[in-house]
Amino acid sequence: MTGGAGFIGAHLCRRLAERGHEVAALDDLSTGFRANLDGVGATLHVGSVLDVGLVGELVASADSVVHLAAAISVPDSVTDPVGTNEVNVTGTLNVLCAARDRAAHTVLASSAAVYGPSPEVPTHEELVPRPVSPYAVSKLATESYGLSFAANYQLPVIAFRFFNVYGPLQSPAHSYAAVVPAFVSALLDGRPLQVFGDGKQSRDFTSVASLVAVLADAVERRVAHDRPVNLAFGTSTTLLELIERLQRLTGLAATVEHREPRAGDVRVSQADTTLLRSLFPRIVPQDLDDGLAETIAWFRATYGGQA
Ligand code: NAD
Repeated sequence: MTGGAGFIGAHLCRRLAERGHEVAALDDLSTGFRANLDGVGATLHVGSVLDVGLVGELVASADSVVHLAAAISVPDSVTDPVGTNEVNVTGTLNVLCAARDRAAHTVLASSAAVYGPSPEVPTHEELVPRPVSPYAVSKLATESYGLSFAANYQLPVIAFRFFNVYGPLQSPAHSYAAVVPAFVSALLDGRPLQVFGDGKQSRDFTSVASLVAVLADAVERRVAHDRPVNLAFGTSTTLLELIERLQRLTGLAATVEHREPRAGDVRVSQADTTLLRSLFPRIVPQDLDDGLAETIAWFRATYGGQA
């Protein structure tokens, strides 16, 4: 697995190791952490997906490849599109070439960002992608190369479009931190919650537990598909509703500060789940309150706050 020391990668390493698989994680620790894999039962190889020799060596002994490594920051991709392209596109090509040589089943991480800022909702996979940020373009290239390798080399590939994933291990530290860790950490520390715009924008929040359940099932059943697949469960929660839930679950009162809406912020993000449910009929998603409660518990255990 690439990106195995990251937020999603570490959860997937744990899940696969618990299910008896031998897991090798390749990660350059640029945004991931060695400690995420403590006690997980996966072997960490520190290095880059840009190291063709290392990628080839690791994939040579793998039956399945899950490629999660990426430069994940949208603002950084605007500042440095070439750097994002290098890691996300060239890195993906390196992984796909190695997987092709081994005929390894391959799982790719794309993003709902490929749909652009104002897609039809619920958003289905056949919509014309309108990526705006270089990050979104790189994710469209990621999935397109994957499906190209499937068509040209009969590589079994599935490319998932993740929506808003949240859960334990997700960092609140970056200026571009995802909204759940940003809100939970602010609430526990007694800081104001910053809401860009009126807070009525909605998201299809996916707990990392639900996400890795799908990814592990894809690996174990070697599920492949000739189109990208939305990986979210079709829910819709506004940021104001999210704040209500977090207040109820923590017993803390939030102070909310409204800021100017951010350019390019999607108003409504909600996946059409028809394809996901047909390919993964056994997966039952985790309830939002349960996922948020686990996230809050992890934040309290890790960062303290008003535990
Ligand atoms: P993350 O930053 O925690 O994980 C990415 C991992 O890749 C990190 O451990 C990082 O160190 C590693 N990495 C980066 N560049 C590398 C390189 N050159 N070589 C090897 N490793 C490298 O982020 P995440 O949220 O776990 O994201 C995992 C994947 O899911 C990414 O591809 C991301 O684009 C995608 N995704 C995530 C979300 C979300 O809501 N979290 C949404 C859409 C797509």
